[in-house]
Amino acid sequence: MKIINYKILFSDDCTPEYKNSIIEYWKLQNNLFVNKPSDLATELDLEAHQLSKIVAELSTLEFEILCEMCKKINTISVKSQASFNNIKSKIKKEHPYICDTCAFDIRQAELLAIEKEKLKKIEKQKSAIENKSWKSLKYFEQKVLHNILHTKNIKMLLKLYKDTPNSIIWNAIYKIRDVDLIELHQFSEGSSVYKITHHNDLKGSFAIEEPAKPKATYDVQTNELKFRLTKNEFPKDIDSPIYSGILNFPNEITLQANIDYIFGGWRRSNNELYLTITPIDQLYKAPQQKLISKQPQHIQESIQKFLKQLNKKI
Ligand SMILES: [Zn+2]
Repeated sequence: MKIINYKILFSDDCTPEYKNSIIEYWKLQNNLFVNKPSDLATELDLEAHQLSKIVAELSTLEFEILCEMCKKINTISVKSQASFNNIKSKIKKEHPYICDTCAFDIRQAELLAIEKEKLKKIEKQKSAIENKSWKSLKYFEQKVLHNILHTKNIKMLLKLYKDTPNSIIWNAIYKIRDVDLIELHQFSEGSSVYKITHHNDLKGSFAIEEPAKPKATYDVQTNELKFRLTKNEFPKDIDSPIYSGILNFPNEITLQANIDYIFGGWRRSNNELYLTITPIDQLYKAPQQKLISKQPQHIQESIQKFLKQLNKKI
């Protein structure tokens, strides 16, 4: 601390009786007070706090410091050694003195930077919502995001994942943060996250993208449709179907336009119906039908025979 100049100001009603003691009270050497207030008080047959009161009433220590920022000289007044030492302790060698005006400007600039950073984050979150950046998240991460949006706090969120290893749930949370959909709040860097916030529009815009089922690729492609129709066990009324159920084919089946198909239905046990739809080409492929195929007038008969054979194979 560079004291450019310092002086003691006495009030008009300061009596000579105290003047010397006050001068001794304020005596500085290398910014250190030479005399202890308690020693001076004893000399005057006073308590230390009584002397402090007298000094504060009758005098002021005024000194000047150069602001390292604006390079202006600032006058500072103190009423006690403690106040002076307090200012001194605030101004450390590595921290040059900065006047109140400059300190205010610095704080304002800091606040502005914080505000700018905040707006930047909001913009990022807005564009993440517009770009549906949750699409880049895995299904599990999307479920975590859904739960973030529908739980009140981290404690409740983690409760939902009490059987999930901590690292897995946190990795998901960080991943969601990395795509700008949420903000994680910490008291200091490295400390635990105490709050998760998000843009107001996220809840209304986000919907979990169901994972795309892996596309099955089949080595075998067929153009014959064969399936069993199960009886509808509980037909409610005349409009209810006789057969109903769910079908699942292991292979791709292609039915082509403008091609003749033979269809056949066979009764099976439990009143089930076995249905086949076969391209008429198959008829000619059947070895026993080769000859008949050459006789178009017998096509109906051939079909019947073909279907009978098919029935045996089923
Ligand atoms: Zn300044």
